[in-house]
Amino acid sequence: LLRVRDVAQSFRVRGGLWGRATDFWAVKGVTFDLFKGETLGIVGESGSGKSTLSRMIMRLLEPTEGTVEFEGRDITHLSERRMRPLRREVQMVFQNPYSSLNPRLTIGESIGTALRVQGGTNTRKIRGQVQDLLERVGLEPSHYNRFPHAFSGGQRQRIAIARALILKPKLIICDEPVSALDVSTQDQVLRLLSELQDDFGLTYVFVAHDLAVVRQVSDRVAVMRQGEVVELGDSDSIYENPRSDYTRQLLTAAP
Ligand code: ATP
Ligand code: MG
Repeated sequence: LLRVRDVAQSFRVRGGLWGRATDFWAVKGVTFDLFKGETLGIVGESGSGKSTLSRMIMRLLEPTEGTVEFEGRDITHLSERRMRPLRREVQMVFQNPYSSLNPRLTIGESIGTALRVQGGTNTRKIRGQVQDLLERVGLEPSHYNRFPHAFSGGQRQRIAIARALILKPKLIICDEPVSALDVSTQDQVLRLLSELQDDFGLTYVFVAHDLAVVRQVSDRVAVMRQGEVVELGDSDSIYENPRSDYTRQLLTAAP
């Protein structure tokens, strides 16, 4: 589904003794393939480049170096206009379910927006589709007219998932989707994600710093450190038989 080759991202930062601008490499030479239907976990400590890598995969950010192919097509330097039809194929779910929903829109409007933007004009049909999806993610169809503030963190994450699903994407990038939730709510949301994966034939990139969470959902795991992937392999072998010293350190440090 996705072929990522030697991607790197540098940012111009000011710092050092004279406040000179220098290049800071947030991601350096990352290479991997993502196969249809799998979940690839990305773990690493804060600042290791996980979100930057995710944004490059989605082409919210143009890689400084390297290439990204989506379904065999090189999208590394596609213009925004040419990216547009591809935008519906890849969606993202973020960590903070409070800031990712517009407080002024009912959740029905939030979820349905993408359908309207795509040219759907039949209001009743859009409403029906959104309500079906609400039910699928474990909410009530009657919640359609409620505003985000009336939901708990876990429910909001369900809403964010519904919004990501409405255009039937092929790939969803989940950037710390359950980090802000308590353990039992985490568990419910993770279970929902895996059910939806089967139903919708989804592929996931699952970013998190919590090793246990990543192991629970991932087929393969990439361990990132200071912008590099230090280890990539089947999730069981990474946890039971880590090859890199850094992975071993992470595992011993984990609670
Ligand atoms: P976290 O677990 O805290 O979310 P992360 O692994 O997602 O961390 P990134 O957000 O990818 O890390 O950031 C990697 C590094 O790149 C950080 O040092 C960050 O400060 C830097 N960085 C990210 N975006 C920018 C930017 N737009 N300009 C300058 N530096 C940036
Ligand atoms: Mg991040």
